[in-house]
Amino acid sequence: MNINARPGIDFIDEGLFEALLKKPAPESSRIREILAKSLDRQWLDLDETAILLAVRDPDLKQEIYDTARELKDRVYGKRIVLFAPLYIGNECINDCSYCGFRSSNKEAVRRTLDDSEIGKQVKALESVGHKRLILVYGEHPRYDADFIARTVRTVYETRGGHDEIRRVNINAAPLDEEGYRIVHEAGIGTYQIFQETYHHETYGRVHPRGTRKSDYLWRLGGLDRAMAAGCDDVGIGALFGLYDWRFEALGLVAHALHLQAAFGVGPHTISFPRLQPASNMDFQQAHLVSDDDFYHLVAVLRLAVPYTGLICTARERAEVRRNVLGFGVSQIDAGSRIEIGGYTESNEVQEMDREQFALGDIRPLDIVMRELLEDGYLPSFCTACYRLGRTGEHFMEFSIPGFIKRFCTPNALTTLTEYLTDYASERTHAVGKKLVDDEIARLDDNATRRKLIQRIEQIQTSDARDF
Ligand code: SAM
Ligand code: SF4
Repeated sequence: MNINARPGIDFIDEGLFEALLKKPAPESSRIREILAKSLDRQWLDLDETAILLAVRDPDLKQEIYDTARELKDRVYGKRIVLFAPLYIGNECINDCSYCGFRSSNKEAVRRTLDDSEIGKQVKALESVGHKRLILVYGEHPRYDADFIARTVRTVYETRGGHDEIRRVNINAAPLDEEGYRIVHEAGIGTYQIFQETYHHETYGRVHPRGTRKSDYLWRLGGLDRAMAAGCDDVGIGALFGLYDWRFEALGLVAHALHLQAAFGVGPHTISFPRLQPASNMDFQQAHLVSDDDFYHLVAVLRLAVPYTGLICTARERAEVRRNVLGFGVSQIDAGSRIEIGGYTESNEVQEMDREQFALGDIRPLDIVMRELLEDGYLPSFCTACYRLGRTGEHFMEFSIPGFIKRFCTPNALTTLTEYLTDYASERTHAVGKKLVDDEIARLDDNATRRKLIQRIEQIQTSDARDF
């Protein structure tokens, strides 16, 4: 079906998606042509994306992974952005069949953090070194735009350890344009909305009629309204496991291409959570995605939209996250707790009735940092571009030649040094210090190197954090 009922939202053409996915496998020479285009940092169209999604030959699949790895290295280098989710409230009027917060789940413990409780959570997050948060809300009349804006301000105004939270992203229900203007004013980073499934019939099945979320088009147009209202930093996503993963991947690429065409900027990030067990949920789903298919999905997304950040959350197991960092993912959360109040009240054991779903990776931030450093990544807490008032990191990173080398890498190294100095365990500090020294030695611009060494010495010997 062509979702063409509202002007401007005609980019999900289900007939086209199904037809593209049914095409016979092309010659390997055609696949290599597409890989070369991608390596040249050009966006892929839907036809090309579908061809890569359809590859089944193990050798060609390996070429897809190798090219995605190479592309990721060329575009992002070794930097990985870290963040943590902060669940503000789980009241919800919707009844999404897959979610522990759904209204019919009477076992769910409902709670909304007040300002002082938010402050406590933020201090706990700051005390382990976090700088970027994503605030998460159920859908409920009390969580309107004014409420979201107030909670964002509360987070920014909380002062905890050595530094404050520098960037607050949002994952909440779609708003109207006026609502987006209100949350934009509060200084939000990315506004994320996941379409859940781009397949209309499945969407109807998992979002029962009569609930606010049952309106597919209201949700699909949610980020167009955000863009129109001035929130030009948005994140899209789909919940994998509800319908055919290849179809959803085309939905995500079509959505990204649409935003790029309509507003001149694509989405800042794409998320692709896989369905996890949730409180009182029937987990017998026909479309669950295997690890192998998940890897294939991530590699193809990397190749299709070279400049869009890819997020893999702690829903996934540590081993899966480690793999996808190599050939696609550029942002991860760490040390995450998703029960309301979980950063100060959590038990070692996950409590299903307080959570939206079960997490696969509950390692603390310090352990995740150490693994990243040991694997040669450069974990970054840098938010300098936002603080300069630019639209998304991508604006400068990718439009100014040499920007990453001269600006992003040094900033990642200084924010990493801050982390190592203020928060890291001894073991993590040792691994991180070696990486910072190696990276500095590798800088080919003497002036940048001198300035950086000076800055790093300052961080190690003082409390000054303003750079
Ligand atoms: N209530 C808002 C909404 O629905 O857009 C905010 C987001 S909801 C708290 C965050 C996301 O979690 C949803 O968009 C959905 O994709 C994902 N989610 C819900 N249930 C899940 C489950 N069982 N496993 C994995 N992800 C899930
Ligand atoms: Fe509510 Fe969002 Fe969960 Fe749906 S996914 S039940 S809207 S919290």
